[in-house]
Amino acid sequence: MSSTHGPRPIAIIGGGFSGLMAAEQLLRALPADRAVLLCERSRPFGLGLAYATTNPEHLLNLRASQMSADSERPEDFADWLARTPFGAEERRGIRETEAGTFAARGLYGRYLAERWARVVTSAGDRLVPLSAAIVDVEPVSEGFVLHGVGVPPRPVAGLVLAMGNLPGPAVVPSRYRLDPWRPEAFGALDPARDVLVIGTGLTMMDSVAALRREGFTGRIVAVSRRGLLPKPHAAVPAGRRPEFTPEIRTSARRLVAAVRRRIAAAREAGDDWRGVIDALRPITDALWAGLPRAEQARMLRHVRPYWDVHRHRTAPPAAEAIAAEIRRGGLVVRAGRILAIDAAPDRAVVTLRPRGTDRRERVEAQGILDATGFSRLAETDDPLLRTLLARGLVRPGPFGLGIAASPGGTVVGPPHHAPIWAFGPMLRGVVWECIAVPDIRDAARHLARAVADELGHRLAA
Ligand SMILES: Cc1cc2nc3c(=O)[nH]c(=O)nc-3n(C[C@H](O)[C@H](O)[C@H](O)COP(=O)(O)OP(=O)(O)OC[C@H]3O[C@@H](n4cnc5c(N)ncnc54)[C@H](O)[C@@H]3O)c2cc1C
Repeated sequence: MSSTHGPRPIAIIGGGFSGLMAAEQLLRALPADRAVLLCERSRPFGLGLAYATTNPEHLLNLRASQMSADSERPEDFADWLARTPFGAEERRGIRETEAGTFAARGLYGRYLAERWARVVTSAGDRLVPLSAAIVDVEPVSEGFVLHGVGVPPRPVAGLVLAMGNLPGPAVVPSRYRLDPWRPEAFGALDPARDVLVIGTGLTMMDSVAALRREGFTGRIVAVSRRGLLPKPHAAVPAGRRPEFTPEIRTSARRLVAAVRRRIAAAREAGDDWRGVIDALRPITDALWAGLPRAEQARMLRHVRPYWDVHRHRTAPPAAEAIAAEIRRGGLVVRAGRILAIDAAPDRAVVTLRPRGTDRRERVEAQGILDATGFSRLAETDDPLLRTLLARGLVRPGPFGLGIAASPGGTVVGPPHHAPIWAFGPMLRGVVWECIAVPDIRDAARHLARAVADELGHRLAA
C-alpha cells in the first residue's frame, strides 16, 4: 500500500480537472501497491486554469446539471450546489435562468477542491501530490525519471500528460501583451484608451468580464477572422439522433448540408436549432473519425468556427452582459485578419484587414489580450512539451493539434520502453470531444483501464 515500497508509481503531469479525474480513476483501476504521482506546478490541485477564478461573472458554460465530476452520479454538482450553505457573495455566483442553473466557475472550483480533499483522504499514501513544474522526462530502462523544478528526480513507470490546452507562444509578440489569466494588472489601464482582445470566443467573454471587474471602464475592441460570438443556451431538449448515410458521413460538405437541412426542418416545425446540434453530440466523435483526412481538413478550415459557437454555448447571463456591452459601445466586435502588430512608445499599433475587404486599418491599443484559446504543439513554448518534442517522446497530432495518440490516448512516438498517455484537451485533433467536463470525466475511466491493461501486460511479460 505504500508509495515508497511498491512498484514505481504512474505519474500524471497536470493537476487540473483532467489530472484529478485521471488520478481518481487510476487509483480505482490499479492494484493497491501502485501509487499515483500527481504533479502540478502552479495552482491548487484539482482546479486547473478554468476553475481557479474568483470572478463571480466567470460562469460555467454548461448547466449545473451537466457538470457532475462523477460519472455515476450525474446530478452530483447540482446536488452539491443545492445542499451547500453559501454566503451572500457566493450565492451571487448561482444564476437561475430559463435555460437552467449556471454557476460561477469559482464555485465549481470549490466543489472540485472538496472532491480533491476526499480523494486524498481515501487514497492515503497511494496518492502522492507533487507541487512542482516538471521540465524534463528522461526515458530509462524501467520507465522514466521526472525532473521537476526544486524537487529531486522521481522514477516512474509511465506517464499521463494532462496539461490542458497547449499553452501558446507569445501569439501576440508585443510588449503591450496582457495576460488574460492575470487580471490584477487591468486595474492600472487608462480608461481613455482602447484595449484590444484577439479572439471573440469564450475566452474573450472572460477577458471582458475580468477587465470590467478590475475597474477598466474604457473601450474594448475584439477581433477575430469571422467576428463570431458564442451563442447562448436556451431551454431546448436535444432532438432525435440523426442517421446519416455513408455517402454523407464521408464528405464535410454533405455532412454540413445534411445538418443544415435538419435545422431548416426544425425551424419549420417551430423547433430550435440547438436541439439539432445537441442531438449530434453522441455521434460527433464517430463522425469526425469517419471523415477522410482531406475532409477533416475542410471541416477544420471552414466549419469549426461556426460549429464552436453553436456547440460550445455560453450561459445566458454572460451572453447578455456581452450584448449590453456592445449596445452601449463598451465592446466593439470586428471581423478581420490582423496583419501586423507594431510598437509605438506608449501603445501597440495593429494593422487589420477587415473581413471581405482589401483595406488596411490601423487600430491603436494600450494593451492586447490574446484570447485565441490554444496553440499547436510545434508552436508551443512550454518547457516540458519542448523537451518531450526534442527527445522524440511526443509528436504533433493530426493537423498539428494536440499530441499524436490513439483515440484511447496512447501516445504515438518512437519505440520506447514505457508508455505515455495524453489525456483531456491534449487529445484535440485525435478526438473531437475531449475538452469539456463531461467528456473528460467519462474518458478517465477508459484511460485508467488502458493504463491498468498496459501495466498488467508488462508485469506479466
Ligand atoms: C476559461 C475556461 C473556461 C472553461 N469553462 C468550462 C465550463 O464551463 N464547462 C466545461 O465543461 N468546460 C470548460 N472549460 C474546458 C476545460 O478545458 C475543461 O473543463 C478542464 O478544465 C480542462 O482541464 P485540464 O486539467 O485538462 O487543463 P487545465 O485546467 O489547463 O489544467 C492543466 C494543469 O496542468 C498544469 N501543468 C501544465 N504543465 C505542467 C508541468 N510541466 N508540470 C506541472 N504541472 C503542469 C497547469 O498548471 C494546470 O493547472 C473551460 C476552459 C477554460 C480555459
